[in-house]
Amino acid sequence: MDESKLLKLSAKELTDLGVCPTCLNRKYNGAIFGDETKLKLYEDEDIDCLFVANPRAEGHMMISSQTHYHDMSEAPDELNEKIIRFAKQFMIIIKQVFGCERVYLCTMSDGPMNHYHVQLIPRYSSEERGSKNFVKPRKPYIYDEPKIKKVRELIALYAKTATK
Ligand SMILES: [Zn+2]
Repeated sequence: MDESKLLKLSAKELTDLGVCPTCLNRKYNGAIFGDETKLKLYEDEDIDCLFVANPRAEGHMMISSQTHYHDMSEAPDELNEKIIRFAKQFMIIIKQVFGCERVYLCTMSDGPMNHYHVQLIPRYSSEERGSKNFVKPRKPYIYDEPKIKKVRELIALYAKTATK
């Protein structure tokens, strides 16, 4: 199928067709997921970090690989290690900036075509503990400039000192 037709499909339809929506979105500058400038937290040659556009909690974010891998079982160990190091740091930062009690880590590339990513989902003290935090209802993302600036600042500081 020619790519202009693919750009009209939803992420789910692309996944079902065996086309990676994340790679297509990057190739065509946000054609699938839209403008991500208000979600972007950090990016380098290996990883891309964003707030989730339809979060399950305030501060819900994701780290994805720049190179296409279906999931961590296909990715090189150094990349998996880097993603875990950044996930750890983001957990600390999200707790600090958003005041949540805990941050849950989840990764589930379960479709016929997915792009390797991990999600970090905050749980606030008013919320009950437990695995249902992984499937809290999604809500619209609310852009909070002071908070996103703080998260960007702290992760940039970490990235500068982190070993590759
Ligand atoms: Zn991909």
